[in-house]
Amino acid sequence: MGNENELSTFDVIVLGAGGSGLVAGLSAAESGSEVLILERTEVYGGHTLETQGMFPVANSRFQLQQGFDFPPEQIFNDIMRMNHGEANPELVMELCKQSGNVADWFADYVGLQLIPVTEFKYYGYTSFSIVSPASRSGSDLVTAMRKKAENTPNLTIVTGRRAKLKKDTVSGSLSVVIEGTDELLKSKKFVVATGGFGANKRLLSRYIPDAVNLKYFGSTFHDGTAVSIAKDLGLQLSNMDSYQAHSSLSAVGTLISWESVMKGSIIINSQGSRFAEEKIGYSEFASKLSSQEGSFGFELIPDGIYSEMYDLYSDFRLTESVGGFRHCHSIDELADYTGANKEKLQTSVGFLTTSILQKSSRETRIFPLHCAKIFPALFHTLGGIRTDRFMRAIEVGDRTSDTVYAVGDAAAGISGRGSTGYLSGSGLLMAIVGGYIAGKHATGKLQ
Ligand SMILES: Cc1cc2nc3c(=O)[nH]c(=O)nc-3n(C[C@H](O)[C@H](O)[C@H](O)COP(=O)(O)OP(=O)(O)OC[C@H]3O[C@@H](n4cnc5c(N)ncnc54)[C@H](O)[C@@H]3O)c2cc1C
Repeated sequence: MGNENELSTFDVIVLGAGGSGLVAGLSAAESGSEVLILERTEVYGGHTLETQGMFPVANSRFQLQQGFDFPPEQIFNDIMRMNHGEANPELVMELCKQSGNVADWFADYVGLQLIPVTEFKYYGYTSFSIVSPASRSGSDLVTAMRKKAENTPNLTIVTGRRAKLKKDTVSGSLSVVIEGTDELLKSKKFVVATGGFGANKRLLSRYIPDAVNLKYFGSTFHDGTAVSIAKDLGLQLSNMDSYQAHSSLSAVGTLISWESVMKGSIIINSQGSRFAEEKIGYSEFASKLSSQEGSFGFELIPDGIYSEMYDLYSDFRLTESVGGFRHCHSIDELADYTGANKEKLQTSVGFLTTSILQKSSRETRIFPLHCAKIFPALFHTLGGIRTDRFMRAIEVGDRTSDTVYAVGDAAAGISGRGSTGYLSGSGLLMAIVGGYIAGKHATGKLQ
């Protein structure tokens, strides 16, 4: 990197080149600004790389062409119902209103078409508003943005730079500090896009003690940079006890897509019994699973669903290849594997058979029954820097910052308290759509 004078020509500096940071940087650069993104690792994409790239969108051009007409109000209502009215409604509405534009922008500017996901609705949705890359992989979102960034002359991305924001105690002006150097970088606007604090046990015990003992399946780089920036700069934190959990982390360390449950698979405890309605959602279900003896369970997947999932998801194929599924041809085999009570297993499998037959007009095979030992997991934290609807940070004392924005998991999210208010896809809605809003607002293109 050059000297301070050279770098002070930047209009916007973004901290973090994950999903939200890349979108914020690109959307600001599209407006003609000189943009610098600083990334701590050597890799672009952060945890967004590991997602299925799915988030809700209202009335994108492609959705409308395909005959899907979902107004922003419908997604707004789904989110606010799920979070029990506990998120900032103005922020939620702005995200919903901009989401269609962002999907169009991805197609036109970034060069990636986002396709409606129509085979199933996640819990809490009243429409098929979720879109994703055709591959169902967040890495395609990142790859498309990386390619676009490489061809954007007014956008510079520098990796291997762990950054923080510092306030001059005399002048009150802000600069970026790079760890291990004495470089101070100046800019007109700053976007904090450094992720949440799921990897920081100290912050977890302080804000989300329930999640401290869950297996952590998120990014090791979500270690609370945004929380310490908020403290240093006098910014408000909000929704700090909010988090997304998941209920089907397999014993071999892979994730079993919850779509399997949405299609009809069931979850039993170590005794062999169902203990909760699975369709309450994977984040909500985690606390139920966590309270079972041993804090684990078994997912029972009928053969018909297993075949569909195997074709659809690479995670499923990976779980199979590393031995995460046991294929049971009888209740006896299932009892051998799980150590559960045979009568209870019989009852659970009886329930599974009846519900599958009721659900499907065509015959759906139950045996061989594919069984995976599963654990509850912490995915990511959803509290962070409190923002207004344009992702501007709110200072202690309730003043809206003129210079600092927070996006993605670094910002206070739109879920309710604890693990029960998360509507699937809200993480990327905050990251991708929130990043776009911040980039456009920071460059004066959104009022
Ligand atoms: C397994 C899994 C699957 C998921 N699937 C979905 C899904 O399909 N849909 C959905 O909506 N959500 C999903 N989520 C949630 C989603 O991953 C997050 O909400 C989203 O990726 C957050 O984006 P971000 O930009 O805030 O974080 P990231 O994409 O992780 O980016 C943060 C970046 O900041 C960098 N960084 C950190 N500290 C610093 C620093 N000090 N200086 C410079 N750089 C720094 C990091 O290295 C990283 O590159 C999933 C989560 C998990 C765990």
